[in-house]
Amino acid sequence: MKDMSRVFGSLGTTIFEVMSGLAREAGAINLGQGFPDIDGPEDVRRAAAEATIDGPNQYPSMMGIPELRQAIARHNGRFYGLDVDWQREVLVTSGATEALGAALMGVLNPGDRVILFEPLYDSYIPICRLIGAEPLVVTLSPPDWSVPMDVVAAHLAEGARSILINSPMNPCGKVFDAAELDALAALLVRHDAVAVCDEVYEHLVFDGRQHAPLMARPGMRERTARIGSAGKIFSLTGWKVGWVTAAPALLQPITKAHQFLTFTTAPNLQRGVAFGLAKDDGYFLGLAADQQAKRDRLSHGLARIGFQVLPSGGTYFISADFRPLGFNGTDEDFCRHITTEAKVAAVPVSAFYAGEAPRHLARFCFCKRDEVLDEAVERLARHFGRG
Ligand code: PMP
Ligand code: GLN
Repeated sequence: MKDMSRVFGSLGTTIFEVMSGLAREAGAINLGQGFPDIDGPEDVRRAAAEATIDGPNQYPSMMGIPELRQAIARHNGRFYGLDVDWQREVLVTSGATEALGAALMGVLNPGDRVILFEPLYDSYIPICRLIGAEPLVVTLSPPDWSVPMDVVAAHLAEGARSILINSPMNPCGKVFDAAELDALAALLVRHDAVAVCDEVYEHLVFDGRQHAPLMARPGMRERTARIGSAGKIFSLTGWKVGWVTAAPALLQPITKAHQFLTFTTAPNLQRGVAFGLAKDDGYFLGLAADQQAKRDRLSHGLARIGFQVLPSGGTYFISADFRPLGFNGTDEDFCRHITTEAKVAAVPVSAFYAGEAPRHLARFCFCKRDEVLDEAVERLARHFGRG
């Protein structure tokens, strides 16, 4: 048979699908793929259900339904002081995954160099490669995962024209701090570069920190495409409703890519999300507080068994060093081992690396019911003889 896509023909299946499949087969508690085990607010689901019955259930505008675009614009203003024109600066997509694809397609040309930080979400590099852009991967290291600003500056000085930033950052839970955002903004402005910001975990930031979009930094408003996802804000990951906020000149080519990727997104779900984004502050604060308590619950449980748990300031995830348990093998071996033997699934952190990766860290997802987290800890404790 003819050669298939050089990017996708030889690519493996995403680690999330693999580990969730293995967890199902093994009857394991799935702390691998990031999804809550309780569906999000009933009133949001009800709004979508009513919209399904009331209709219309036909193609919405490719930009998204006005109600949701207005809600996204207002959300940008309410939380970050960003003044957004809902008609010209908001695009609704089928999840952040599509938003990322469309944004990279809209921004990059073949041969362009784009700066990425690893560990990184697994869709970034294949999409860059598909476009023919060259990823310049900058590795961040535990425990603080701080940005080597000199490396970023050198890449920009040598001609990189864009950067992709994920804050809060999957899988390591890094939340970019004010100094880093200021330094990045200054560099990007100086080199006339564009930022694509994956901010799907914007409302999952802990310990009193506030999420700060790079887009709100001086000089960044016109050169940033900011990506959000309802899946994470409303604990409804299966809905796959995402969006891009960007200045008109930047959003325009992103919209053209979107029109040939999915064109549009289910209108009933868009109505539900529009309803949700108008919820009061209590909802958003409660979400972060609940997840912070779960982070702590799982972190303490794993630490009691002997894992060395790395700090996480946001997202659904903690990473833990399993070497103190005496396991000799890679992170992939470890995650498969605990899935089949202890009946608890996790994801190997090396799956988030393009190059040389640490092999001693497993990522655990904590957005589960307390009793599920407790049972997972109990199973691991029993398995490692620490019960
Ligand atoms: N970016 C990051 C960093 C993620 O962790 C995820 C996973 N949900 C996505 C993008 C994709 O989000 P969505 O489900 O809205 O496509
Ligand atoms: N973002 C989720 C995670 O990191 C998974 C999303 C997916 O399965 N594609 O676990």
